[in-house]
Amino acid sequence: MTELTVKNHNRNAAGLTYIYPVISRRSGGLSIGINFNTNNACNWRCVYCQVPNLDLGAAPELDFELLETELTFFLQDVLHGDFYNRFAMDPELRIIKDIAISGNGEPTSVKGFAKAIELIIRVTEQAKIPDPFHYVLITNGSLIHHSDVQDGLKLFNQYNGQVWFKLDSATDEGRNLINHSALSLQKHTENLLISARLCSTWLQTCMLQVKLGPSLVNMTEQEAYLALLQRVSEKVTLQGIMLYSLARESLQPEANMIASVTEKQLNDFAGRICQLGLKVKVSL
Ligand code: SF4
Repeated sequence: MTELTVKNHNRNAAGLTYIYPVISRRSGGLSIGINFNTNNACNWRCVYCQVPNLDLGAAPELDFELLETELTFFLQDVLHGDFYNRFAMDPELRIIKDIAISGNGEPTSVKGFAKAIELIIRVTEQAKIPDPFHYVLITNGSLIHHSDVQDGLKLFNQYNGQVWFKLDSATDEGRNLINHSALSLQKHTENLLISARLCSTWLQTCMLQVKLGPSLVNMTEQEAYLALLQRVSEKVTLQGIMLYSLARESLQPEANMIASVTEKQLNDFAGRICQLGLKVKVSL
């Protein structure tokens, strides 16, 4: 018997290609993860990334038929089968909190993203998951300028989906260092505006110490981040900011060059963000 705990984020836990269960410490129940990036490929390389053997690239061709079969089966197993017993899940956590499109790379890089979103929503709505439950897209936000991704977000919005959009630094230097992103801050900000106009958008921000250069522990980085939030908030509504530090060990070469921040550092920075009138959820 496999025990499914908040520490077990093994994407193979259910023995499926695209679907993986996670007990989410953030949401307090079962999160059904959908991983398009079965090749462990992403267009970014964040220094804290926990994807093993991370490759530069996009998600492979999606097998839509297999995704539908797996999601249908898995939802039936959780809602009407013995999934919770097989995985010895804590009774208090036997609740589906969300369907999270996330995984071992950037999910919006999959060809046919909007079609995949349509499939996921159709199968999920047919399964009739009890409320409260919601759809989440966890993205680095770098491909939101593509029309197919925007079509997916529009559909997501019709079903009260949320986008969790990555922003770890508001300087090009910080983003190069932490995310190895080729996208300029200006383009990234434009994508954030598009996201927030199309769908409920939360920022996900990892605050960490980086021995190689600046991060959000530095005052200049904090000032740049706050100034960006201010500019963005004047144009669109952000749902808030999810602020956290390193939850698990990085699997990237920089693993020993980065470290978590303290609870006080997180809370102090959260306090500064709150002064802008934005909601902040801090995860320790
Ligand atoms: S965006 Fe996500 S999957 Fe891609 S490198 Fe960063 S943490 Fe890893």
